Amino acid sequence: MYCVESSEYDIVIIGAGILGTSLAYMFSGFSEYRVLLVEREHEAALHSSSRNTGVLHRPFYLDPAKKKVFAKAAQFSYPLWKELSAKYNLPWSQNGTVEVAVREADVETLQKYEQYAAANGMEPDEFALLSQEELKGIEPLVKSKGAFYSKTDTGVSFGQYARKLLEISIAKGLSIKFDTAVETVLANESKLILRNRDGKEKTVRYGALVNVAGSGAVHLARKFGLAKIYAVLHFRGDYWRVSDSLRGRIRRNIYSVPRHSKYPFLDPHFVIRHDGKMEIGPNAALVWGPYGYLRGDPNRRLSDIDLFARPLMPKLKLFTNMEFMSMVRQEWKSSTHRDAMIGRISQFVNGLKPGDITGRGLSGIRHSLIDSSGFVPEAVMEIGGSSLHVMNYNSPGATGAPAYAAHLIGKMLDAGLISEKRIKAENEGDILWGSAFSKLLENMT
Ligand SMILES: Cc1cc2nc3c(=O)[nH]c(=O)nc-3n(C[C@H](O)[C@H](O)[C@H](O)COP(=O)(O)OP(=O)(O)OC[C@H]3O[C@@H](n4cnc5c(N)ncnc54)[C@H](O)[C@@H]3O)c2cc1C
Repeated sequence: MYCVESSEYDIVIIGAGILGTSLAYMFSGFSEYRVLLVEREHEAALHSSSRNTGVLHRPFYLDPAKKKVFAKAAQFSYPLWKELSAKYNLPWSQNGTVEVAVREADVETLQKYEQYAAANGMEPDEFALLSQEELKGIEPLVKSKGAFYSKTDTGVSFGQYARKLLEISIAKGLSIKFDTAVETVLANESKLILRNRDGKEKTVRYGALVNVAGSGAVHLARKFGLAKIYAVLHFRGDYWRVSDSLRGRIRRNIYSVPRHSKYPFLDPHFVIRHDGKMEIGPNAALVWGPYGYLRGDPNRRLSDIDLFARPLMPKLKLFTNMEFMSMVRQEWKSSTHRDAMIGRISQFVNGLKPGDITGRGLSGIRHSLIDSSGFVPEAVMEIGGSSLHVMNYNSPGATGAPAYAAHLIGKMLDAGLISEKRIKAENEGDILWGSAFSKLLENMT
């Protein structure tokens, strides 16, 4: 059934973000498949996978009933990332996160977190509910009506993790094409036309295809005749840098219970990055398309602008919703005015002054799927022919990427896109994640 020539691969993966590289690593390490990874940039993980808060989230805030797959993915991935960082000396800064109740009503949410944490498998000594006084004892600058303390949240560099996985995978035989985008799809013939930055085209035949192209995933899925009911909106999260004078005065990430639970954004936080640098953000500013942070990028194309792309109905519904539009205006303010961002963080952190902001930090863009009922809360997976597509893969997607990759392998097995006979799930001793792989497949499928 599968291929022999160099322009033919058993599996083609589109997108070398944290999910694509995790999946590529699993196929290279634990299967006999010949895999090609295609990435439109010159390096892996240049978009969401590096432009994020960098927190390896513990799953205390994920409802185990409604967010089961993401909660499991976060829980099972934590020791895998720990193993990777220990083995290759990559960033691992276990600062912990405190999530505070700003309003009295938020206290109930914190109590739910305690149940979720236990149900999702966190150990009892990893978390605690804190009273106002207890919180003052560990974070004197933070004000609240109470807090949930997740002690094992960890600052990491998902970009470095993705690039290390890629390096190991290439050593194990993975093929990679950088600076190459998937332009045309001949789904009936299981062929793709790839185009590199110089405009050269190449046809590749695949046995199975996985589209994990992040912000580009919906466009690609449509080329396969899928994802037609979804519109996509892009929201840029901007961060502002905080002066070193606060170093040591705030020791943990400080989050607040999100105000708008029907919108899939967390409110901005105070973040301590893996290298000790401090930032506040991100907000969620509506932008024109998936690469709305790249001012002056010569590769920016009109086709990337999809704010007004079809289907329009789900967007029109949102754009005529006063509450949503007021949120959009407010979110933009904290992109253009640092005082607006400081104002938001000052609701739960005392003593932040405009002079404490030393400049702009990172910006990262999330893509959010909407349908006729509004924002789609979960990641969406669609299978068509011999292709599988993952869309709306948002936070804490980076945290859960290895286990979610195992989940995708399970789905591909179920759909007959790959065969169990060519998966090597036995314990591979010394190989990274070797002792966990078969259990992971079992638990995530
Ligand atoms: C502001 C922000 C903060 C976040 N904070 C956290 C956090 O603290 N912790 C956490 O766990 N998660 C966080 N997330 C979520 C997390 O970053 C994402 O879920 C994750 O990075 C998604 O990874 P990905 O591999 O699916 O996508 P991406 O990283 O976007 O990778 C997709 C890749 O596909 C490539 N591509 C696109 N189209 C094509 C094409 N046609 N041909 C070839 N290649 C293509 C792109 O160039 C890109 O490299 C955050 C996200 C944002 C935006």
